[in-house]
Parts: sequence; structure tokens; C-alpha cells
Amino acid sequence: MAPVAFREVRKAFGTVEVLHGVSIDISEGEFVVLVGPSGCGKSTLLRMLAGLEHVSAGEIWIGDRVVNQLPPKERDIAMVFQNYALYPHITVAENMGFSLTLKGAKKAEIAERVRPAAEILGLTHLLDRYPRQLSGGQRQRVAMGRAIVREPQVFLFDEPLSNLDAKLRVSMRTEMKNLHQRLKTTTVYVTHDQIEAMTMADKIVVMHDGRVAQVGTPLELYDRPDNLFVAGFIGSPA
Ligand code: ADP
Ligand code: MG
Repeated sequence: MAPVAFREVRKAFGTVEVLHGVSIDISEGEFVVLVGPSGCGKSTLLRMLAGLEHVSAGEIWIGDRVVNQLPPKERDIAMVFQNYALYPHITVAENMGFSLTLKGAKKAEIAERVRPAAEILGLTHLLDRYPRQLSGGQRQRVAMGRAIVREPQVFLFDEPLSNLDAKLRVSMRTEMKNLHQRLKTTTVYVTHDQIEAMTMADKIVVMHDGRVAQVGTPLELYDRPDNLFVAGFIGSPA
């Protein structure tokens, strides 16, 4: 069983259907990038996987469970958004450990989980700072740290680098790939940026107008696009 699967998933807002029967299989440990132009339904798909949006039809699986009716807290996922809201009034360490605090974990246990995550992300020397004292890239790392500390079965990222400047974005791509090599956590990563998709993905899902246009490795999509949309989209600069 794939750790994540979408089976003929549909989504309508009122009478307008925006996802028209999407099926995707994501394997254990895979880094999958959902890519497509703005408005094609990437965020909606991810939000349904996270439990933040109701599924109109079809099934979403995480592990061996259909999660359609499951509240976000019970899904064993951690999501990092584009505007990574950190709590301004608590430290980096407290931000990273916040989900454990909510669960009533002891201080020592929280510190034990935060420490290795901070080390992986190069945040060890910043643990006592407050978010306002950090650069954009550092804040993004804290947001990722917060997800890592939860040790979820699946990471969900929605355009996590799009608020960063171009140079930082490039280095963060490498960092996120390195992180994935280390943790091997199944990852679903949403972006509208073809270059990001081509450089980061094990598998790319190209979306177009609420449908899957093609699924393949970066090389497969580049060498053998199934249709003109994929050829044009993958071949054109961001
Ligand atoms: P993407 O992330 O690929 O840019 P979205 O998933 O955000 O696309 O949006 C897909 C479509 O659904 C768009 O047409 C968008 O306007 C519409 N949509 C998204 N959220 C809502 C909502 N809460 N209410 C109505 N329409 C929405
Ligand atoms: Mg979006």
C-alpha cells in the first residue's frame, strides 16, 4: 500500500468543480512534486490531504486508512506553508517544539527532540532567539524544523520557498533535498516553478485545470512529454 494515494478525487466549491477526478500514488520515502500553473488545483489537493478542506468525491489514503473523514490532527502529517507563521512571542526552540508542548510532553523530552532537528537545519546557535531576529531563510528553516520535530509519516509543502529571494531559493532547494536524503520522509511538495520541480523531485505530477496531465520522473517528462501542455510547461522557464 502506498503511504499516500488519491483515488478519483474531486473537489467542488459551490457548483464549480475545480478538481475533476485526480488519482496519484505516492510511495514510501518518495519526494513527489505537484507542479502546474496558478489555479490548477495544487493547493486544494494538498489541503484535502492535510484535512483542511472537505473532499467532494473519491478517496484519500494515508497508509492503510481512508482519511476523508479524519481530522487533521489524526493524519500523521506535518505541513509547511508559504507564509510560515511562526509564533512571534516565543523562541525558536519553543516554536520548534510547540506541537509537543500542546501534547503535554515534558520539557526535557521536547529539548531532546528539538536538538537533532536544529542540528540538521543549522539552527543550533539560534535556538534562544525570537523569530523577528531571524532572516527569511532562517525562519523558513524553523518552519521546517517544526515539521521535523513532529516526526510525521508525510511532509506537505505548499510553495515553501516562494517568499525567499532567488539566490536563497536555490540554496534552500539543495538543503531540502539533503534533508530528504537524511530523513527519507515521504514528501508531497507543491510549486508552480518548473525548475524547482525538475531539480527536486523523484517523481513529478504535472497538473492542468484540475486534472493530472502526466506523472513521471524529471527525465521522463523532459524526454517524453505525453502532450503539448506538458511539453510547453516543462520546457518553459518559470
Ligand atoms: P493552485 O494552488 O494550483 O494555484 P488552488 O488549489 O489554490 O490552485 O485553486 C484551484 C481553483 O480553486 C482556483 O480556480 C481557485 O480560484 C479555486 N478555489 C480555491 N479555493 C477556493 C475557495 N475557498 N473557494 C472558492 N474557490 C476556490
Ligand atoms: Mg497554491
